[in-house]
Amino acid sequence: MTALSTEEQAVVDTVRTFVDREVRPVVRELEHSDTYPEALVERMKELGVFGLAVPEPWGEAPVSMPCYAQVTAELARGWMSLAGAMGGHTVVAKLLVAFGTRAQQDRWLPAMATGEVRATMALTEPGGGSDLQAMRTVARRDGGQWVVDGAKTWITNSRRSQLIALLCRTDPDAQPRHRGVSVLLVEHGPGLTVSKDLPKLGYKGVESCELVFDGFRAPADAVLGGEEGRGFAQMMTGLETGRIQVAARAVGVAQAAFDDALRYAQERESFGRPIWQHQSVGNLLADMATSLTAARQLVLYAAERYETGRRCDLEAGMAKLFASETAMRVALDAIRVHGGHGYSTEFDVERYFRDAPLMIVGEGTNEIQRDVIARQLVARGGLG
Ligand SMILES: Cc1cc2nc3c(=O)[nH]c(=O)nc-3n(C[C@H](O)[C@H](O)[C@H](O)COP(=O)(O)OP(=O)(O)OC[C@H]3O[C@@H](n4cnc5c(N)ncnc54)[C@H](O)[C@@H]3O)c2cc1C
Repeated sequence: MTALSTEEQAVVDTVRTFVDREVRPVVRELEHSDTYPEALVERMKELGVFGLAVPEPWGEAPVSMPCYAQVTAELARGWMSLAGAMGGHTVVAKLLVAFGTRAQQDRWLPAMATGEVRATMALTEPGGGSDLQAMRTVARRDGGQWVVDGAKTWITNSRRSQLIALLCRTDPDAQPRHRGVSVLLVEHGPGLTVSKDLPKLGYKGVESCELVFDGFRAPADAVLGGEEGRGFAQMMTGLETGRIQVAARAVGVAQAAFDDALRYAQERESFGRPIWQHQSVGNLLADMATSLTAARQLVLYAAERYETGRRCDLEAGMAKLFASETAMRVALDAIRVHGGHGYSTEFDVERYFRDAPLMIVGEGTNEIQRDVIARQLVARGGLG
């Protein structure tokens, strides 16, 4: 595993200190009141977190994917919702860098680097998120503009994001269907309604919403890269980043759950000794630490593969699958270690247990990840 450069390690350390000093002391209150973390997001802007994927000349401090994954894990260790506030944003920044026209890059990336403009991506529809090619949101040409009709759901940060990367059909008759899909870069305006904030098990504080497009008009140059029909392939590339990000979030949540369990197991006593000395509890801690370490290595492996510029959907899929299932199991085991306190909202472990399932479902469910992994194994002739 390659070590981070001194500069990148300093970025991770800065975020770690921010999490310990400024996030962990306030997270329980924000979580239980479901409050948008305005002040923490402002601090993330100051720390440059929203610009981590934006290179010169639009930004200042782009970092490697392994560094980005570690920053994400640190944020999620404090509060998974904070990592969520910059997840879709980074995917959109990377899409713009990789595929945007120069005009699109100049327009959006400088303000995205500072966090003044925040971005989200809108893929999922009420009819389904796994089968993206069956999407029904359509953009039709009308004079010099696009007219969009349809609905998206579960779109995180969409009320507060100024830029939405909208996956939609620009040629509903195209065969194969993915050739008729484009990404439109759209802003809030007439014809776009944020119709509902969806109530959630966890992932509190940040909003996940339904969006309705009804005769919404976007300019002709809103198509990412300027050429229609490339959106599906563009978004699949973006999802490699998204899946590494979600996997890193899972590592952060699992780390927090393990840390709390290890501490509690040394403080709590039963039968005259700290509970970690009971073999069953010690075994839980050993297994938690082992899977957490394996998950972290898998995420860094995927991040390093990404950095080589080669296709990494197999690696990102494996990282997302394993890290999210690990986070779920470690969060449950942290509850076991805490006994009754683990079920109390006065402790943090119940939050990890509510946050962990999102990483199993989001950014392509784990069933879909297995499908991606199996297809790639066959296509590559094995692990290679
Ligand atoms: C809190 C939250 C935030 C989200 N944020 C965003 C966001 O910002 N932007 C966005 O676009 N989306 C977002 N999503 C949506 C998320 O990506 C989808 O929920 C996810 O992709 C699954 O889609 P679905 O819910 O429609 O499930 P479905 O596609 O209906 O799947 C239902 C079940 O069927 C299984 N299934 C479906 N097809 C197959 C198959 N071919 N093989 C095996 N199993 C299959 C699935 O694995 C799942 O178990 C968010 C979701 C949540 C819960």
